[in-house]
Amino acid sequence: MNNKTILIIEDEVKISRFIQLELEHEGYRVDVEHNGRTGLDKALHGNYDLILLDIMLPSLNGMEVLRRLRASSQVPVIMLTAKDEVMDKVMGLDLGADDYITKPFAIEELLARIRVIFKHNRISSTESNIYKVNGLILDANKYSLTYCNDPIELTKKEFDLLKYLMMNKGLVLTRDNILENVWGYDYFGDTNIVDVYISYLRNKIDDKYNKKFIYTVRGVGYQLKDE
Ligand code: CA
Repeated sequence: MNNKTILIIEDEVKISRFIQLELEHEGYRVDVEHNGRTGLDKALHGNYDLILLDIMLPSLNGMEVLRRLRASSQVPVIMLTAKDEVMDKVMGLDLGADDYITKPFAIEELLARIRVIFKHNRISSTESNIYKVNGLILDANKYSLTYCNDPIELTKKEFDLLKYLMMNKGLVLTRDNILENVWGYDYFGDTNIVDVYISYLRNKIDDKYNKKFIYTVRGVGYQLKDE
């Protein structure tokens, strides 16, 4: 047994049943909801370690469930998306999903991504560090970021990425470096997810304060300079 409890919010009974059986086989405890409204309610009031969230759901779609969930909860979320929902993937990540997987998927791929998420959460909960670069102060315990006492709101993934850049200030980090350490080395997605997230961070930090924090090192990767 591994003591983790997972909530599946998925209206296709065949799919949810299949995922449930596989997860239970791996030793996870599993709850299932088949519509957005009851799913959100359970996600908010149950004590879950991970939510698997479908997008097209009756009564409240997955994006709306995620948006409302993120107003008060940082529980890890993996979106289950259909092949033609590319925009939704980006939107889902923007709203604070930790990862997405495209249906139909191999169950081994889903299990691998779940392991990555639990591995990262374990690491971050034992770290107790505060990082300071150029007026930015990131407190990994409180999940807070400020610039000259001004609070900056980040999604979980943005926070993890910035934390990794701050931990390695002054160093040039390759996309592969970043993928391996922020998303997990067995992440199956595109490497350009790094570029997408760097642009989110620049919008929220560099552009907002009209100051250059994150440098692009052409052909290599990214660097947070400490000046
Ligand atoms: Ca669906």
